Amino acid sequence: MYLIAGAYRPANGDNGAMESTGNLLENVALEKPTDTPDERWMRHALAAAQQAATAGEVPVGAVLVREGKLLVAAGNAPIGLHDPTAHAEMLVMRTAAAQLADYRLGGTTLYVTLEPCAMCAAAMLHARVERVVFGAWDPRVGAVGSRLNLFQMPGQNHRIDFIGGVLATECGAVLKRFFAAKRGG
Ligand SMILES: [Zn+2]
Repeated sequence: MYLIAGAYRPANGDNGAMESTGNLLENVALEKPTDTPDERWMRHALAAAQQAATAGEVPVGAVLVREGKLLVAAGNAPIGLHDPTAHAEMLVMRTAAAQLADYRLGGTTLYVTLEPCAMCAAAMLHARVERVVFGAWDPRVGAVGSRLNLFQMPGQNHRIDFIGGVLATECGAVLKRFFAAKRGG
């Protein structure tokens, strides 16, 4: 398991197995016994969002899961990485694809705390992600149902199964707190 959040990046030369050598999310992923599997993974994405907030990034977090195993977690990091494409979803896909040496991520589920934008939704289609689960809706630029739905555009050769609104209140609250603190400070 790799985690990228804000300034944190996996150590160079750490090309071993995808399994974690130290789970950075342990102390922040607050699981509840009533959680569904989707909610459980979403809490990991929330933890990555929190780390992004700590790094001064807009707090969106994502995790990529395959066969019940966490492959990668990442927080939004465009500011820290000087990369306009460094959304949490892009980072988990990029890191997993590099680690697996495969640009296609079939059989994976991507959890993200905010509805993906058009860039990320399109990348998920390119990557052949199997399923996408997101938290809060993004009425402004959401591209999986709010503004448009790239996953339901006709004529595509890949279908992504998706569900939105998982832990939506918690996922939205992280963003609200971040922007409220910005306005306050
Ligand atoms: Zn995006």
